Amino acid sequence: MRLTTKIIIGLIAGAITGLLLNILSPDLFKILNQYLFVPAGKIFINLITMLVVPIVLFSIILGTAGLGDPKKLGRIGLKTIVYFLFTTTIAILIGLALAFLFEPGNKGEFDTANTEFTAEKAPPVSETLLNIIPSNPFAALTEGNMLQVIAFAVLIGFALTALGDKTKGILNLVDQGNELMMYLVNLVMKLAPYGTFALIVTAVGSQGIDAVKAMGLYMFVVIFALILHGLIVYGGSIMLLARKNPLWFFKGFAPAMGVAFSTSSSNATLPVSMEAAQKNLKVPESISSFVQPLGATINMDGTAIMQGVATIFIAQVYDVNLTFPEIATVVLTAVLASIGTAGVPGVGLIMLAMVLSSVQLPVEGIGLILGIDRLLDMARTAVNITGDAACAVIVSEQEKKTQRRAETVVKR
Ligand code: ASP
Repeated sequence: MRLTTKIIIGLIAGAITGLLLNILSPDLFKILNQYLFVPAGKIFINLITMLVVPIVLFSIILGTAGLGDPKKLGRIGLKTIVYFLFTTTIAILIGLALAFLFEPGNKGEFDTANTEFTAEKAPPVSETLLNIIPSNPFAALTEGNMLQVIAFAVLIGFALTALGDKTKGILNLVDQGNELMMYLVNLVMKLAPYGTFALIVTAVGSQGIDAVKAMGLYMFVVIFALILHGLIVYGGSIMLLARKNPLWFFKGFAPAMGVAFSTSSSNATLPVSMEAAQKNLKVPESISSFVQPLGATINMDGTAIMQGVATIFIAQVYDVNLTFPEIATVVLTAVLASIGTAGVPGVGLIMLAMVLSSVQLPVEGIGLILGIDRLLDMARTAVNITGDAACAVIVSEQEKKTQRRAETVVKR
């Protein structure tokens, strides 16, 4: 049986088991969860997370060195950033439009008197961007500060190209290190169906059914917006900009989506999403290793959708009418908030505080959606990483075309 099929079976079986335990025997769930599902899920997440920093470091060094000329890196970088910003803006607009259409905050009773949420201080986006150059690269590696690791690796890649034969040994070492990590990814992925099963049982089993029922319309709007965005924006851009069949894309990327769904972490899924893009979608390593780690850190369309819907939901619950300039502020701050969201579970909700405060909406409103956010986090993380892969495929197909064109010119 193919791995994708096994992961999908793991997801479905996990959801059914979680739901049944939740309804039939919450006590049994508690015990099984504590001694079986939580440890099993943790082992799986740790195994893949363990590979993230070395993979990002090795593969970006190789990728930059492999691209050779800085102009090509500049072109790829520019296309990537433009795609990321454009799709994130569309994501928020889809979220806002559906929230205005379905009015999840106007339908139903929401207890705002007892909601509580103390906003943790989110780092200002300007600080994240200014800190891209690490003052200590080893600290960046140990802390897993992805943007800093990316910046350091790109510079090393350039230096290796410039120094050529002098540093060939190091380039070989990095190449072999990368091989080693990819081998381990393959090995760890054999456990993915069991890991996803355990993680989903925990996620679904821990949900209060009443909370899910009360927040049903809000959840529906977020999920509907995520699906629309995936199909229209990713499917459409794969078709128009990469000239590929969207079905081929979604099918090839499905294993990574399954892992993102169960781990709720773009970062932890990175080794798997890079492998799926390189193997199944034929994205060259040099492009995948540049676009995907960057995307896992700054490109979060699914998170932006949740932030858009949640803002309007909270405005509706608290009876606040947002003006047009305020809505424009929401769009802008949600783009920044999603860029600043780290690819780990739950951070999107913390960054939502920044969007709410930008238009003076009550931050305690987050307390209303806190209970069910874990479920939505799974779905939005799957969308987050799919956007990165779509960008990688588009950039790589366009680069292939440019290369073919250059080759025919040379032949002539
Ligand atoms: N869990 C998301 C991710 O890793 C981020 C979030 O929205 O909380 O992509």
